[in-house]
Amino acid sequence: MSEVMNVEEIFGKNVFTLGKMKERLPKDVFKEVKKVMDQGGELSMAAANVVAKAMKDWAVENGATHYTHWFQPLTGITAEKHDAFVTHPDEMGKMITEFSGKELIKGEPDASSFPSGGLRATFEARGYTAWDITSPAFLKEAATGAILCIPTAFCSYTGEALDKKTPLLRSMEAVSKQALRIVKLFGNTEATRVTASVGPEQEYFLVDEKLYKQRPDLMFSGRTLFGALPPKGQEMEDHYFGVIRERVGAFMKDLNEELWKLGVTAKTQHNEVAPAQHELAPIYETANIAVDHNQLVMETMKRVAVKHGMRCLLHEKPYAGVNGSGKHDNWSITTDNGVNLLEPGDTPNENIQFLLVLACIMKAVDTHADLLRQSASDVGNDHRLGANEAPPAIISMFLGEQLEDVVKQLVETGSADSVKHGGKLETGVSTLPDLQKDATDRNRTSPFAFTGNKFEFRMVGSADSIAGPNTTLNAIVAEAFCEAADILEKADDFDVAVHDLIKEYMTKHQRIVFNGNGYSDEWVKEAEKRGLPNIKSMIEAASTLTSDKAVALFEKFGIYTEAELKSREEIIYETYAKSINIEALTMIDMAGKQIIPAVVKYTKVLADSVVAVKAAGADATVQTDLLKQVSKKLEAMQKALVKLEKAEAKGSAMTDAKEQAFYYKDTVMAVMAELRKPADELEMIVDKDLWPIPTYGELMFEV
Ligand code: ADP
Ligand code: MG
Repeated sequence: MSEVMNVEEIFGKNVFTLGKMKERLPKDVFKEVKKVMDQGGELSMAAANVVAKAMKDWAVENGATHYTHWFQPLTGITAEKHDAFVTHPDEMGKMITEFSGKELIKGEPDASSFPSGGLRATFEARGYTAWDITSPAFLKEAATGAILCIPTAFCSYTGEALDKKTPLLRSMEAVSKQALRIVKLFGNTEATRVTASVGPEQEYFLVDEKLYKQRPDLMFSGRTLFGALPPKGQEMEDHYFGVIRERVGAFMKDLNEELWKLGVTAKTQHNEVAPAQHELAPIYETANIAVDHNQLVMETMKRVAVKHGMRCLLHEKPYAGVNGSGKHDNWSITTDNGVNLLEPGDTPNENIQFLLVLACIMKAVDTHADLLRQSASDVGNDHRLGANEAPPAIISMFLGEQLEDVVKQLVETGSADSVKHGGKLETGVSTLPDLQKDATDRNRTSPFAFTGNKFEFRMVGSADSIAGPNTTLNAIVAEAFCEAADILEKADDFDVAVHDLIKEYMTKHQRIVFNGNGYSDEWVKEAEKRGLPNIKSMIEAASTLTSDKAVALFEKFGIYTEAELKSREEIIYETYAKSINIEALTMIDMAGKQIIPAVVKYTKVLADSVVAVKAAGADATVQTDLLKQVSKKLEAMQKALVKLEKAEAKGSAMTDAKEQAFYYKDTVMAVMAELRKPADELEMIVDKDLWPIPTYGELMFEV
């Protein structure tokens, strides 16, 4: 047996927790830190110096040699630049490590090479990082040794956000402020803060490293660009929740240990739908910490996989025709005196505050369906959303039977007098207990589903940062709360006014509620009738960021300036074009250097065989037919290859980012499909020994 792992002991071992600060800081400094954490404001330099020293001592005691301001630029991943704690030695050559309050609070990485979407020319390279005191510092243990990581926000010299954390923190403040106005109306005057909480379920694939290294497409673009479906896929549904294979189990064990040390509450693990696909879910926590932790989860998955001779694929669609990966973003909002605003209670029809919150969220999601959809888009996710896969690109809300019934009553009669309950589920076995049923079944096809006391935003892509989706969610809900509070605070008769407002919002925005099958074609038609947007791709969604509606929303709550929104739109086009360009070049490379030469070899084998068989006086019809078939597909491949080379050359020479992005989507992607088709067909007929790259079957089943 392996040695015993004591979860309580290792949990948070590598985190400079509040507990550790309390132990190591003088009382007054600790109090100051706690106050800034809870109420905002700035730490005094005197306190920052003390915190920095304590943090450094703890880090050094635990093996750290360097520190870094850890931030989240618009690349979607994290960035770090390590600085050792070393200082100038004294005359005698003795060096004492140091870390000052100033170094803790502020950093200045040369930021010229991060995407800024025109916010900053490269000659104006200054960028600043500022400590996010609400997210704890931690030690990252890697081959570099232990590094003290300080979570930070990243801004330009002129104060514009160049990262994903700054707008998220701004959105959290906005939703807190507006939600407080709502709860106050219902008599909750003690609450001082409302916190958005997030629990992201992370899906991923594992692949054997040896096979991975034989697939340039996986290495360069994170997904397969060629590959025929294996004889066995996911149709038997035997992988979902199946017994976890030993090798994967060993990976999961290590992954959990690493994450627990980092204070990440890795909780649930299971096999997912596709072969070699898995999921990890942590326990939900404050949104910005959840965002930081999700970045750590993704990073740790990749690192631990390598240790186990595997690679972790976070791409939304590593294999065509096989279930893709998403990230269910579970979201709720709770007051600091413990009230979850999304908790309906047993009788939601009588819970007026809940109904108002629900009505506001219906309004928010309906009004800004386009923005919400945009927030969940990234290059890989285009293969899921709107591509006949889970979930559709159309935003709708699933409320479940119970709430839908309440909404219906409210809309039709102005009051909801009854409420459906779950009742008992009889198992029919005397030794099994009867189960209390939930009032509502689940709906796996909804992009935005109410699941008891939270919303589950299921559109988010597996590789994406969850900062964007939660920023948008907080922002749109803050706006709806604000508008409701503006009306209700002025009302002469609160009870009547709130009743009317709930009815008004629910009536107006009922079209966003859909409890049926979100994957069906009927829904696409029905949604169109209802006037709901169906935005098919990441780049078509990009301009929603700079619509008048969006600029008004984000500027009103100080979440993004118009300039920041414009820069983000620009970055989307750039990112898209660059990503597809890499894919196109990879296909050109693989087709030209690997697949076509292999097929040419095979045609020679066939031709030789035809000659030999004929010379022996036998019938060579089969060989001849095969040769003709292969040659035809080979010709199609070669043609498409030439076409792709031309398209890529034209695309990469374009200078307008938006035009370029659309060219890649509409033209280059189409030619890529043309090249892939004959290649995948050839894979099915060419001698296996000659096929130059591992097949889907090998990639997915040899883990
Ligand atoms: P599923 O069955 O869809 O996997 P779970 O109940 O396991 O759903 O929860 C999935 C995620 O939702 C977990 O990360 C969990 O911590 C999180 N979660 C649970 N309650 C809340 C809540 N009130 N707010 C935000 N996230 C939550
Ligand atoms: Mg889920």
